[in-house]
Parts: sequence; structure tokens; C-alpha cells
Amino acid sequence: MARRPGRPRGTTVPIADRFWRFVTKGRVNECWLWEGSTSGDGHGRFWNGKQTVPAHHVAWLLKHKQKVPKGYYCRHVARCGEKTCMNPVHLYLVKIRSTKGKVKK
Ligand SMILES: [Zn+2]
Repeated sequence: MARRPGRPRGTTVPIADRFWRFVTKGRVNECWLWEGSTSGDGHGRFWNGKQTVPAHHVAWLLKHKQKVPKGYYCRHVARCGEKTCMNPVHLYLVKIRSTKGKVKK
């Protein structure tokens, strides 16, 4: 087994570093496009070390330092509409509506 020089063993690259490598960042209000792999529905996919998750959810996570809360999903604002956009300011949370029961206000 050849070990490649210059590559530390058992690397645990911070998730943010791995993530932003796949993103072409633009200006604050521009779309930051995902260059990594995408899923069938056109959204970016990212391996978080445990599972493949929607890349824009990771963008949200890194911005807000928490996961997308249970019962919510992450959408792009209308003026964006880019499925592969990773600019956190273009992302917002939407409550997943339950098909049964009422929505609390
Ligand atoms: Zn965008």
C-alpha cells in the first residue's frame, strides 16, 4: 500500500472546508453554484461523513450552525430558483405541512 506524500493520514477535514470546495462563491447577492454531484431532481448532493444529504441543507447548516429543524425543509427564494445555489441568503426554511391535522399558527 503506497501512501501518498503530503496527505495526512486519517484526515478529518472540517465539513465546511470540504463543502465550500464544491461551491463557486460570488457576491453576497449572487447565486453560489454547486460544482459537486447532483441528484436526479437537480439538487446538489453532499456526503457529510455519514450519509448523502441535500447540499443546500448543508449550506444552511453551516450558516446557522444547526441542522435544518425536523419538520422543515430548505427552499430557494423565488428570485434565485437555482437548485444548485448554495448562497445561504438565498435559502429559507419551509414547514413541511402535515397531510393530516391542522397547522398551528
Ligand atoms: Zn441563488
